[in-house]
Amino acid sequence: MKITFKTVLSHITYILILLGCYFLIKKIPSFTPPILLVIEYSSYILFGLGMLLSIRFNQGRVFLIILLLTLFQLFLNYYSRLSVHITTYSQVLYPVTCILLPLNIAIFSQLKERGIFSLWGKIRISFILIEMLVIYRIAVSIDPLIQKIVDYKFIKFPLEKMIMPQVALLIFFLTLILFIIKAYFKNSIFEVRLIGVIISVFTALIFINDKLSFSIFLSAAGLMLITGVIEDSYSMAYLDELTGIPSRRALREDLMKLGNKYVIAMVDIDFFKKFNDKYGHDVGDDVLKLVASNLVQVTGGGKAFRYGGEEFTILFPGKSINDMIPHLEDLRVQVSKSGYTRKPSKTQATKSKSKRGSSSQLFVTISIGVCEKSSKFKTYSDVIKGADKALYRAKKKGRNCVSK
Ligand code: GH3
Ligand code: MG
Ligand code: MG
Repeated sequence: MKITFKTVLSHITYILILLGCYFLIKKIPSFTPPILLVIEYSSYILFGLGMLLSIRFNQGRVFLIILLLTLFQLFLNYYSRLSVHITTYSQVLYPVTCILLPLNIAIFSQLKERGIFSLWGKIRISFILIEMLVIYRIAVSIDPLIQKIVDYKFIKFPLEKMIMPQVALLIFFLTLILFIIKAYFKNSIFEVRLIGVIISVFTALIFINDKLSFSIFLSAAGLMLITGVIEDSYSMAYLDELTGIPSRRALREDLMKLGNKYVIAMVDIDFFKKFNDKYGHDVGDDVLKLVASNLVQVTGGGKAFRYGGEEFTILFPGKSINDMIPHLEDLRVQVSKSGYTRKPSKTQATKSKSKRGSSSQLFVTISIGVCEKSSKFKTYSDVIKGADKALYRAKKKGRNCVSK
């Protein structure tokens, strides 16, 4: 279980959104009619925006969840216009929604990402539309079997007064547990977001008799999904896909912000081609991730980026070269000491039975070239070129060293 900065930030955002909802509800009596109108339709506006964004970034699962929320909300708000009687609304439509909504969110969130307008995407959208038609058919009459499911009680007391069916409470609870397990034991940021979404949807359904509170909590769910799409598109642009550290695009932006004093280090893994040839590209990828995880921990106020391939860049804003060399030395030693534990592949394990189950440690070293801004190296591209030349010298000196 690893709690990352991103997870903590997401939780803080969602807690703030939910607190915001709470204060908004408290303030409802003091709002003027135009504001109340905006609040009433805010969830539709956010859902629409969320759908557009998820189409733009091809996030099929988010799109499906927002589509579900929109259609269920339309159903619950406009049931009378669909000639659903108030008794079937309260005895069938509402309880069935409470059961199906978390169930659908749970199922759709666990499907593989397959885009929106692909064949898979279309099949999933069709499934939702058919489901809506079935719910509509069910909601116009009272079916004894449905009634039995909806009225089923696991415990007699103290949930008697709860308007939500106990089956729905159980499904909400299980869905929440599923998301918590996935979020914290599989480190999935998508499920971290869904924890917030499922809590908001649950609260919205509890407030069903108050149109504004219902809309406010659904808006919270919409907002959480939207922030998720935005966060993901940011990561796509600024984080390197393989290593998860800032990418070259992020480097370019940070280079623009540098002042008059800074140090740039270029880092290159030694003999990495040989390493790949010997252990395979997948092991090479894992080792790149390991090296990157060491680089982001560089001391001295440095920030690491993946420059490309097996090369990285470290920026030290406001620093001078001689002060930074000890930090880079520490980093070099740290990388050379951190071994990658290779799991024996199945074929290897069966081939050499004597060595069965044994896992070996693999090590790589890095060479570092460093340069600072000065009258000789005036622009950041001069400094990068200087660092590259220093890196070449480090390689010539025998590798696994820092050169300036
Ligand atoms: P040197 O010590 O002189 O730097 O030798 P080198 O073999 O590291 O240098 P060279 O530039 O010849 O080779 C770099 C190798 O890095 C080539 C490629 O196989 C490997 N490489 C680059 N990007 C990746 C990547 O994303 N994944 C993996 N697995 N390997 C990569
Ligand atoms: Mg290289
Ligand atoms: Mg190399």
